[in-house]
Amino acid sequence: MSRPDLNAVVAALRQVLPESGRPVALHEPAFGGNEWSYVKQCLDEGMVSSIGTFVDRFERMLADYTGAAHAVAVVNGTAALHVCLRLVGVQENDEVLLPALTFVATANAVRYCNAAPHFVDSSERTLGVDPVRLEAYLREAAETGPKGCVNRRTGRRIRALVVMHTFGHPAEPDALADLCRRFGIELVEDAAQSLGSRYRGRHTGTWGRVAALSFNGNKIVTTGGGGAILTSDAALAARAKHLTTTAKVPHRWAYAHDEVGFNYRLPNVNAAIGCAQIEQLPAFVERKRSLARHYQEVLCNVAGVRLFQEPPRAESNYWLNALILDDADMSRRDALLELTQDHRWLTRPVWTLLHRLPMYRDCPRMELPVAERLEASIVNLPSSASLRHAEARAVNRHRGV
Ligand SMILES: *Cc1c(COP(=O)(O)O)cnc(C)c1O
Repeated sequence: MSRPDLNAVVAALRQVLPESGRPVALHEPAFGGNEWSYVKQCLDEGMVSSIGTFVDRFERMLADYTGAAHAVAVVNGTAALHVCLRLVGVQENDEVLLPALTFVATANAVRYCNAAPHFVDSSERTLGVDPVRLEAYLREAAETGPKGCVNRRTGRRIRALVVMHTFGHPAEPDALADLCRRFGIELVEDAAQSLGSRYRGRHTGTWGRVAALSFNGNKIVTTGGGGAILTSDAALAARAKHLTTTAKVPHRWAYAHDEVGFNYRLPNVNAAIGCAQIEQLPAFVERKRSLARHYQEVLCNVAGVRLFQEPPRAESNYWLNALILDDADMSRRDALLELTQDHRWLTRPVWTLLHRLPMYRDCPRMELPVAERLEASIVNLPSSASLRHAEARAVNRHRGV
């Protein structure tokens, strides 16, 4: 285990990142396609809100791209997660397993169902839920009976597992789906970061019964704000549409609603941007994979750090590049954040582990040694697809062009 020379890390990053004095964002969107003409079409036709053709078109494009039979567009990724949990039957006083190492929205969606988050550890190999350690934990902590899987200590039903594909790197969805089947737990995928990522050739978000996508401004594809629910179950897709559109019963004029629904629909003008973005998604993925290769080239000879590489059998979108310090030491991590921010590179630490947040401090959890190590050793690097052009410039500089 070697302590990294942080100045050597900065010297390596200099070969990838510009130093123009302007800040280099962690992730910024690119609107080089049909965004302007599609939005203009919405404005020209007066179709900016809940009616219009772009929502249907966006949903079809998402389904075609991912291979899910159905996609239901919604107002953001958090709303998508909330509805996913409702769709698989999460109820008040249930528990939902999820990694401690994820964005806070994953746990918030559980709370919106009046259920309790139950935190599980991550894998060093994938940065996602570790199926082997989770199985060992459940054998101890849970029992399966007529009610399904039950937490022995709390007596509450463990209804679902939400897996998250961290920074776009697929967790092991085949092993996790198999584990869920054996324990009678529903598998939900938080694929907010992994649009464009595949495992064994199959797109993330198509391994569980339902999955959530996000199109927030910092994701690989953005609609300003937006999200989607993926499923291959036609009945669940219809139910998702119903729940997210105020549970209105179709009628020519009557306002009849048959349950408490949500106003979670995605406006047409946002879907228009989304259609233009999906057209460019293969190019975005290509550029981000190329940026990751470049980071890998310059960092592979720097002692004490490594760039996280896509796990075996995975093809990752490399949404956010993650530098990992060999030494899990929060003060070294923070020193690297300081040093890189001094160069106006807007690096970031990973999210504060959710069991440390005040509202989730008392939730049930397994031991979290890997998540804690990762928290103290990850620094995310600027990862915009547009940085690929900076790479071309740097290569040309080396060649004296
Ligand atoms: C972005 C994100 C979300 C939430 O998506 P929003 O569209 O911002 O609501 C949920 N989970 C993860 C892991 C995310 O990265």
